[in-house]
Amino acid sequence: MAEADMAHVLVFPIPAQGHLNSFLHFSTGLLRAGLHVTFLHTDHNLRRLGAAAREAAAASPRLRFLSVPDDDPRAVDGLPRLMQALSTTGAAAYRDLLASLRRGGAAADDGFPPVTCVVADGVMPFAWDIAEELGVPAIAYRTVSACSVLAYLSVPRLVQRGELPFPEGGGDLDVPVRGVPGMESFLRRRDLPIQCRSLTDTYQDPLLKAVVAATVDSRRARALMLNTTASLEGPSLAHLAEEMRDVFAVGPLHAMSPAPAVATSLWRHDDGCMAWLDGQPERSVVYISLGSLTVISHEQFTEFLHGLVAAGYPFLWVLRPDMLGASQDAALQDALAAVGEGRALVVPWAPQREVLRHHAVGCFLTHSGWNSTIEGVVEGVPMVCWPFFADQQINSRFVGAVWGNGLDMKDVCERDMVEGTVREAMESDEVRKSARALAEQVERDIADGGSSAMEFKRLVGFIRELSS
Ligand code: UDP
Repeated sequence: MAEADMAHVLVFPIPAQGHLNSFLHFSTGLLRAGLHVTFLHTDHNLRRLGAAAREAAAASPRLRFLSVPDDDPRAVDGLPRLMQALSTTGAAAYRDLLASLRRGGAAADDGFPPVTCVVADGVMPFAWDIAEELGVPAIAYRTVSACSVLAYLSVPRLVQRGELPFPEGGGDLDVPVRGVPGMESFLRRRDLPIQCRSLTDTYQDPLLKAVVAATVDSRRARALMLNTTASLEGPSLAHLAEEMRDVFAVGPLHAMSPAPAVATSLWRHDDGCMAWLDGQPERSVVYISLGSLTVISHEQFTEFLHGLVAAGYPFLWVLRPDMLGASQDAALQDALAAVGEGRALVVPWAPQREVLRHHAVGCFLTHSGWNSTIEGVVEGVPMVCWPFFADQQINSRFVGAVWGNGLDMKDVCERDMVEGTVREAMESDEVRKSARALAEQVERDIADGGSSAMEFKRLVGFIRELSS
């Protein structure tokens, strides 16, 4: 086997949809470059993906899927619990597995070379610490935006400067925040991760604490890799580069190394929505999807529904079966009755990237998860942002105030606001032009010789060097 082919990366995402998608696209890029990839799922998700994972592995002899226990099969639905389960039961199993797969370990007998490098989810510091203890170099991959990583990294400084915690009761959320480098002119309290709002004396929210700690701990990894581009997030990347051992901006990976959607999706797509879109006029449809984790209240659903109906455009709405709780079925019937035959389609899960690419889609009402954000950016679709948690608050600020490819509806969920914002996103030439210009810029980044394409090559070289 040629030296280059001996590079074998074990990739280890947390088992949430957005993370799995990004890691699978990354793996596809590594396979194309000639490397071997072991994709580490949790038992629960590998069972859930079943035949799709087997098919993907069968189609690529240098790819295999293995799994570690996640303790609680339902943990996939709750991020803090999931991270907890992974860092205990999952971590022990991961250590044993990596010890057997690394050079000098027992190794599997399926023809794969020993694992020479780990690329672990950037919210699991245990994964790179264990790898390094076992003599395997490790890279942290944060699947969120560079601006959000920089914000998390800045939280200790914000506490030190007295920017955090906010005054009792949250204070005025429109007050500018100083202390996140490069964002002084536009970042407000409301654009920081939402957990910052509930702090009292220090940043003791468990999820925020874990994510801030993981971000700080990324400095120990050989490098930090991000699914973004220099043209979208150049200043944030430059600030991160000052703090990390190395930084690679290699995205948007889904546009560079498309992986078969079927192998990544934990839910079954409703393909009927593509035929429905085919029957709609050019740029007439509002596509609504709030990602794989968000749960909304009945009141929020009702406000969205009324706002959408009043805006008057046909819409395609992804309502996952677990999104609204017990009232979901009745709410659905009401939704469909309210808009009339053929004017709206509600599906449990859609082939999102194809939907966004469809000529009938005029705007994307999104929760501003990073994958959804870059998928919308790549297709040049104007966005209406209604962020829930984590990096979503800052992503939506970049959309509304920095890139101008959409409107940030943050913190307000009232029918009039939904109606007005959706109308503006559908009709504004300015927003559409910015969305188009951004898509063209990103297309240049990922084309041969573009910044992300070059960064991906540099990363593959770096992994080969670490593997030699
Ligand atoms: N997605 C999809 N079909 C849907 C809704 C979402 O394929 O009906 C995909 C979407 O394309 C994206 C991922 O699920 O790749 C969601 O990731 P994101 O980071 O946007 O949000 P999260 O689910 O992590 O909150």
